[in-house]
Amino acid sequence: MSGGDNLDFEIRPNPAPVSAADRATLLANPGFGRIFTDHMVTVRYAEGKGWYEPRVEARAPIPMDPASAVLHYAQEIFEGLKAYTLPDGGVAMFRPDANARRFAESAARMAMPALGVDMFLKSLHEIITIDRSWIPQGEDSSLYLRPFAYASEVFLGVRPAMEYLYLVIASPAGAYFSGGVKPLSLWVTPDYTRAAPGGTGAAKCGGNYAAGLSAQAEAIEHGCDQVVYLDAIERKYLDELGGMNIVFVLDDGSLVTPPLTGTILPGITRDSILKLAQRAGRKVEERQVSLDEWRDGARSGRIREAFACGTAAVITPIGTVKSAEGEFAVADGGSGEVTMALRQELTDIQRGRAEDPFGWVHRVL
Ligand SMILES: *Cc1c(COP(=O)(O)O)cnc(C)c1O
Repeated sequence: MSGGDNLDFEIRPNPAPVSAADRATLLANPGFGRIFTDHMVTVRYAEGKGWYEPRVEARAPIPMDPASAVLHYAQEIFEGLKAYTLPDGGVAMFRPDANARRFAESAARMAMPALGVDMFLKSLHEIITIDRSWIPQGEDSSLYLRPFAYASEVFLGVRPAMEYLYLVIASPAGAYFSGGVKPLSLWVTPDYTRAAPGGTGAAKCGGNYAAGLSAQAEAIEHGCDQVVYLDAIERKYLDELGGMNIVFVLDDGSLVTPPLTGTILPGITRDSILKLAQRAGRKVEERQVSLDEWRDGARSGRIREAFACGTAAVITPIGTVKSAEGEFAVADGGSGEVTMALRQELTDIQRGRAEDPFGWVHRVL
């Protein structure tokens, strides 16, 4: 981090926050990404000056010049993590330092200045503290935090911008699966790829998501929940879903997941599951898995289960896979045993219901 960062946020409380009664109504059924807290964090950056004016202020529209670089060349990155209530009434986040490091890595890939890890963590503490009353209390609900940064310079030339804005907004979110975990159906797109070697697949940038929307629409057209991508070169090996990593469970209980070669996003949920599995004595392999291996393995029973993982839904079983060649079921189309056990183990640690062997739970309040 640049040692000179001023970490003292100026706090400008919202003069007209949502009333307690209205907030309670909103929190009763928050859904995902629909409602927002009273505040936001903003930090500005200018070349030669570094990050400056760290602020917590009323959430409001951001004035934007039509020539702002991000609107034209998509120099933008984001993160996503949760703050939630612990059994003793405290508030925690899960491995926010890992999000901070990934944010810096995404910034480097998009030729953006890195925000210091300390500044990133402080910004999350600030918004959680001021908007604490917005954290939903339900068992699986949380306050979803969305840090992001974009090129705010007013300039149409093609080069890294010289001005940026970093923000954090917060959105109360209900349980991802209301009415129990439901296995996903996946569409293997024959038409689109997500990331090529040397591309931006390992960066958490909005552009990757924009490029995936057509593929996701194709999945919906084929009656599937989500798209799963094959590698861009051979169109043979599984990469990941549009916003979640993929893990396979073999018949000997071992886990297999595609390696981090730059085309998939290094998920913190993925990493946490691999570490927990290894610690429990499970074999963990990071290697390529072809669609053929998956189809044959699902039939023979060699590949027992498969799941998708990411912060929002934590772990979601994969039930069926549909491609141009036909459809097959994984774990009889239901939720696998190992998948659901890993899900329980991870959420118990996150929520402070089980011991935290790696010191991942980061208490804020
Ligand atoms: C964010 C993201 C993930 C999951 O990462 P987590 O750190 O586990 O939330 C996986 N794939 C993509 C493309 C992502 O953007």
